[in-house]
Amino acid sequence: MAVHHQILVIGTGPAGFTAALYASRANLDVAIFEGMQPGGQLTITTEVENYPGFEHGIQGPEMMDIFRKQANRFGAKSIYETVTKVDFSERPFKLWTEREEYTADAVIIATGAKAKLLDLPSLDKYWGAGISACATCDGFFFKGEKIFVVGGGDTAMEEANYLTHFGESVTLVHRREGFRASQIMVERTKKNPKIRIITNAIIDEFLGEEKMGVKKLTHIRLKDTKTGETSVYEAGGCFIAIGHQPNSQIFEEFLDMDENGYLITEGKSSKTKIPGVFACGDVQDNVYRQAVTAAGSGCAAAIDAERWLAEQE
Ligand code: NDP
Repeated sequence: MAVHHQILVIGTGPAGFTAALYASRANLDVAIFEGMQPGGQLTITTEVENYPGFEHGIQGPEMMDIFRKQANRFGAKSIYETVTKVDFSERPFKLWTEREEYTADAVIIATGAKAKLLDLPSLDKYWGAGISACATCDGFFFKGEKIFVVGGGDTAMEEANYLTHFGESVTLVHRREGFRASQIMVERTKKNPKIRIITNAIIDEFLGEEKMGVKKLTHIRLKDTKTGETSVYEAGGCFIAIGHQPNSQIFEEFLDMDENGYLITEGKSSKTKIPGVFACGDVQDNVYRQAVTAAGSGCAAAIDAERWLAEQE
């Protein structure tokens, strides 16, 4: 027998928790799937300084814990399972985890996105200790440093330009000669006197030091993709900007997505093409990708779902 809830929220970053908070506070019966990474991308960041209301900043995991408690306080139930399959072809909607079948009158998708990273063990070692995947989030921590940015798309160009506000210098490293980024962004980057561009190169290794248990990135080793030659550069920070992967695969059969897999929502709303299924946060936003914008869109999704449910009665 399937377990039924009025609203099922899939995913627990700022978007999912905020949707659950608003929907449960509207007196709806809400459950939220916490999935593989409860708390979402913020649980792999360190300090969050740009979420309004936390004047002195807060650790990402701690912030997500507060979000969870606030949603739970109004009755949203946390389910520590991952949704592996959905059927949105009829109502109530069906969702499956490895353990259970669930049904819902409305579904809010807040499954987020993953930054693509480089497959290097030394990346894990210095992650959060000099390596990041979000300039808006972490650029501030790199004042006066020699910063590297990896990637040749618009994100890499944008991040390189943004990081010149903080770094002593910014070096953009791209694996081939041609750029995927738009011409205007490439021109802007080339014209910026604080940016040096190294093409035909990949990161071969992140190098650093560990003093009294504190790790810190100090250098990176680049490898020329044509000659295989390696060279070591001083680096206080490195931003990986090689794209994001929205967690939208399980919805492929039912929902529209753009060429990169981001779910498409209608106008300013969170409505997908299936009435009663809503999407919010990074799984449908490839532009802003911030905790506060994700939370805002989670709120919008809860309001959309609540109104839609009221119309069905
Ligand atoms: P993209 O997929 O456009 O670019 C990713 C870049 O990373 C490519 O240059 C790619 O190289 C490189 N790359 C991928 N994998 C690796 C790897 N393993 N090692 C080294 N380099 C790698 O992603 P973006 O995040 O830049 O952009 C996503 C979308 O968002 C795009 O449509 C973009 O236009 C849009 N966007 C628009 C902005 C704007 O208009 N202001 C700002 C930011 C994003 P290669 O080219 O060789 O494949």
